[in-house]
Amino acid sequence: SYISVCAGTGCLGLGNEAVISAFETEIKKQSLEAKVELRVTGCHGFCEQGPNVAIYPEDIYYTQVAAGDVPEIITRTVLGKKVIDRLVYTDPHTGEKSVYQSDIPFYKKQMRQLIGNNTRIDSRSIDDYIGIGGYGALSKALFEMTPEQVLDEVKKANLRGRGGGGFAAGRKWETTRNAQADVKYVIVNGHEGEPGATMDRAIFTGNPHSVLEGLIIGAYAIGAQKGFIYTRHDSPQLKNNIYLAIDKAREYGLLGDNILGSGFDFDVEVHFDVGIFVSGESSALMRSIEGKNPEPRPKYIRTSVSGVWDKPSNLNNVETWANVPLIIDKGADWYAGIGTEHSKGSKLISLSGNIVNSGVVEVEFGTTIREIIYDIGGGIPNGKKLKAVHFGGAMGGSMPASLIDTPLDFDALKEVSAPMGAGALMVMDEDTNMVDMNRFFLEFLTNESCGKCVPCREGLKQMLKVLIRLSKGEGKQGDIELLEEIAEVLSVSALCSLGKTASDPLKSSLRYFRDEYEAGIKKTA
Ligand code: SF4
Repeated sequence: SYISVCAGTGCLGLGNEAVISAFETEIKKQSLEAKVELRVTGCHGFCEQGPNVAIYPEDIYYTQVAAGDVPEIITRTVLGKKVIDRLVYTDPHTGEKSVYQSDIPFYKKQMRQLIGNNTRIDSRSIDDYIGIGGYGALSKALFEMTPEQVLDEVKKANLRGRGGGGFAAGRKWETTRNAQADVKYVIVNGHEGEPGATMDRAIFTGNPHSVLEGLIIGAYAIGAQKGFIYTRHDSPQLKNNIYLAIDKAREYGLLGDNILGSGFDFDVEVHFDVGIFVSGESSALMRSIEGKNPEPRPKYIRTSVSGVWDKPSNLNNVETWANVPLIIDKGADWYAGIGTEHSKGSKLISLSGNIVNSGVVEVEFGTTIREIIYDIGGGIPNGKKLKAVHFGGAMGGSMPASLIDTPLDFDALKEVSAPMGAGALMVMDEDTNMVDMNRFFLEFLTNESCGKCVPCREGLKQMLKVLIRLSKGEGKQGDIELLEEIAEVLSVSALCSLGKTASDPLKSSLRYFRDEYEAGIKKTA
């Protein structure tokens, strides 16, 4: 049997290190090293209830575990096969207890294709990943498929990029593949700067080999010889897990020259961001890889044709790459059977704000926002009413509570002005003031604007001034129209996506909550 202790960011903050060391001590003390294995895993997603511990093969799941509980868990549950009632999750609404992970309402409606294995594998162990079939898809791609067949499979699966735009990944791959150049690159965008977003980190720290495997398969299909992983500089755990995964992959012949004896050569290099939000923008990110200032450039020539050092460079985010082994392993037909007509597969969502179960969830496309908030997220705390749901971080949008039967789908969410972005979902209760909320987003973007183009650099500052006076109830007549005018100028004239979409939250907020902005106009003005 083995014990899996969550080492995701949430559990780390809730004291899992003491729990891990208590398990190590107890296993040693009772001389159980040959009988009981301890796996320190990536994020289980149930961050609100941490530190979380799963016991296999029984699938018994304990929440809010303290170091002091560990000797009893070993003696009674691991050895005695008895359940400790006080550590079992109790539903706050129904009082129902769930002994097994699969019975907990938070997990029941999820489709955990990408993070399901986070609870089962030690994220630092390549053998654990291989043990669950890892690198099988790479072997299939290299020995049973041509690069063209791999590309066709990804196109047929209709995999859409999970970084925000939802662009068809296969078509993007094809552009880089068809570009004429002596060198081509593939890139993992693990920057994840969206406020409230921790999905990529959950995959990358919890199952780094799944991303690496997807990247190598992509490189094979595109004809790239080198890959870059661009990720955050501020998580030692993330850094360690990525470096360890790369070292192990090299040791196992999965990176470097003549991968697995197939004749295909490919290797990766890791680059870290410099703590600037805009460095997640594709052209800025590529400049950063070149060692220059991460400033966006106009994209009349796409980065898929001219990217890093002007070479064709295909960039996808962490979650997109992690989908690739699944598609190759199980086939495009299987993958295309999951989700909605135009949004296939599953999606990771980072739940935060006024919600009972904040954390990271993974659901099938087509699941409604209501199901995510109430069935998985446990609803709104303190008996409050839901007011709005915000998707996509500082450049996203908010929908009112009346629209939460909208399915999770790239196009359906765009239609209601709450584009999914990378998948950060913030829940707002009845006490939320939408003007303040947008002021927060705009302050963030004003600080993060790189200042290269005038509409963004000056436009954001002016919008913020107006929003501040509206939020203080000191707005002037014509302020809302002024905001709308600047927002329009920004969308059509800013250089990069930060500026172009910076006013999206405001636009969607004005669409549904205009009265709150009107209330900010001084009556005598
Ligand atoms: Fe910089 Fe903003 Fe212009 Fe983008 S839109 S290049 S972030 S100033």
